[in-house]
Amino acid sequence: MLDVFSPSDEQLPLLERMAADAKSFWKRGWLVGTCGNLSVKVNEQPLEMLVSASGLDKGALQTSDFLKVGPAGKILAPTPHKPSSEIGVHEVVYRRTQARACYHVHSVWNNLASQLFREQGSVMVENVEMLKGLAGFGLRDTLRLPIVDNSEDMTRLARNVDGGLNPKIPGVLVFQHGIYVWGRDQAEARRHVEILEFLMEYACRLRSYKQ
Ligand SMILES: [Zn+2]
Repeated sequence: MLDVFSPSDEQLPLLERMAADAKSFWKRGWLVGTCGNLSVKVNEQPLEMLVSASGLDKGALQTSDFLKVGPAGKILAPTPHKPSSEIGVHEVVYRRTQARACYHVHSVWNNLASQLFREQGSVMVENVEMLKGLAGFGLRDTLRLPIVDNSEDMTRLARNVDGGLNPKIPGVLVFQHGIYVWGRDQAEARRHVEILEFLMEYACRLRSYKQ
C-alpha cells in the first residue's frame, strides 16, 4: 500500500478550502453522484496541480482525497487514489488563463442551458446586475458563455474546451455535461461558479417565460 499524499503547510489550507467548496456545491445539487472535480495550481513551471480524486462523494471530501499531479495527469506523489479523468481540461485552463483554481460542476441548469442555447454556440446574458460578480465584467458588458461539444474521449474533450475557451470569460459550458469555471484564486473560482449558475438558471427561465 502506497503512502497517502501528504500536503505541505501551505497546501493544506488549499485542500481544506476545496473540500469545503465541494461540500457547499454538493449541498446545492451541483456535485451529486460523485460527479465533478476541483483543482488548484500550486506551481506554474513545471505545472503542478492538486486535484480531487476520481469517484468520491463530493459532499464528504477529506484533505487526503486529493492528489498532486503534473502535465497529462502524471502523479507526482504516492497515493492510493486515481486523479479525476478530466484533469486534461484543468490543464488547458491553467495553460490558457491566469487561473489558480478550477472548479467543474454538473447542475440541472447548466445542462439545460447548454441544450437550449446550443444553436447559438453560447449563452448570452446582458443587463443583469449579477454580471458584475464576474471578474472584468460590468453591467453594460454582454456575457457570451461558450458551449462546446462533449466527448467521452478525454483528449478530445480537452481539445474542445481549448477551442471554445475565451480567456476573458471565466467559464466554458460542455454540452449536456457541466461547466468548467475558474478564478485567480479559490474565492474567485467559487464566486464565479455561484454567479454563472445564477445566470444559467436566469437565462433558461427567461427563455421559457418569453415563449
Ligand atoms: Zn464532468
